[in-house]
Amino acid sequence: MNMTPPPIPRPGPAFADLHLHTLFSDGTFTPEELAGHGARCGLAAMALTDHDTVEGCPRMALACRHLGIQFISGAELTAELDGCELHVLGYFLDADNPQLQTNLKKFQTVRQNRIHEMVARLNRLKIPLRAESVFALANCHSPGRPHVGRALVQEGFCGSLDEAFDRFLKKNRPAYVPKFKISALEAIALVHHAGGLASMAHPGLNRSDEVIPALAASGLDGIECFHSKHTAAMTQYYLEIAARHHLLVTGGSDCHGYSKGKPLIGGCKLPVIYYDRLMQRYQAKASSRTPLPALAAKTS
Ligand code: AMP
Ligand code: ZN
Ligand code: FE
Ligand code: FE
Repeated sequence: MNMTPPPIPRPGPAFADLHLHTLFSDGTFTPEELAGHGARCGLAAMALTDHDTVEGCPRMALACRHLGIQFISGAELTAELDGCELHVLGYFLDADNPQLQTNLKKFQTVRQNRIHEMVARLNRLKIPLRAESVFALANCHSPGRPHVGRALVQEGFCGSLDEAFDRFLKKNRPAYVPKFKISALEAIALVHHAGGLASMAHPGLNRSDEVIPALAASGLDGIECFHSKHTAAMTQYYLEIAARHHLLVTGGSDCHGYSKGKPLIGGCKLPVIYYDRLMQRYQAKASSRTPLPALAAKTS
């Protein structure tokens, strides 16, 4: 008889994914599907960061709770500073904050108007796409270029999403419409006002490193060092920048489901130590806002 004891199960290193999209913006998964994928990838923590909306967060929070995954409510805001486009990730957002609600509604209206403008441009190019088709396909308050691209593919005007972007939707292409962008400093202030922490998304994609010192001086809390499109060298480079500016480190796959081929979830692993530090910073901030009970109340 084999008396060798079975190996003691050792949990492997734990990871988080703090940059994810659902069909509440331009992803293809429901919050429940996304949480399920996270569980299958063995994620310990997830954050939902849909573009300009927090609508998917309550459902995702519930799904994650059932699966034993820690969850952060978030959103990704398109911002600019000194002419550079950059994306600001807001974490721990209070969805009931009136200023956040007003601003998200405004960004969503801008997105909806922009769909009409992009379709008008396509129509001038003799592509008879209708805005109603795009809105029906998007079926959300925060539609974007990928929805126009998918509609172009679905109606046979383009062979693929890449072709739709390359021919029409990319910057400097004929149906590209620039979008109003909040200033990055205002985006950080808005996130803070809603009780959250702000991180600069995928700095390696925006090539706007020169604005990082100004953002850090304006209260930026973190920087997304780990991202699906960052090379190992880029991750290392931004880890050094984070250390230099005393910024928290965040990271995530930026998974959009099947929007751009294979789902990216599971492919970018943020070690949970960074999630813990983010959580600790949030808890310290939140407790500093909660007035302590007066000593007199304790002793009387
Ligand atoms: P928008 O916020 O409407 O400007 O759209 C931005 C979204 O389009 C982001 O999720 C990008 O990842 C996505 N996107 C940008 N370029 C492409 C591309 N060439 N193919 C597919 N998706 C793209
Ligand atoms: Zn997106
Ligand atoms: Fe982004
Ligand atoms: Fe994103």
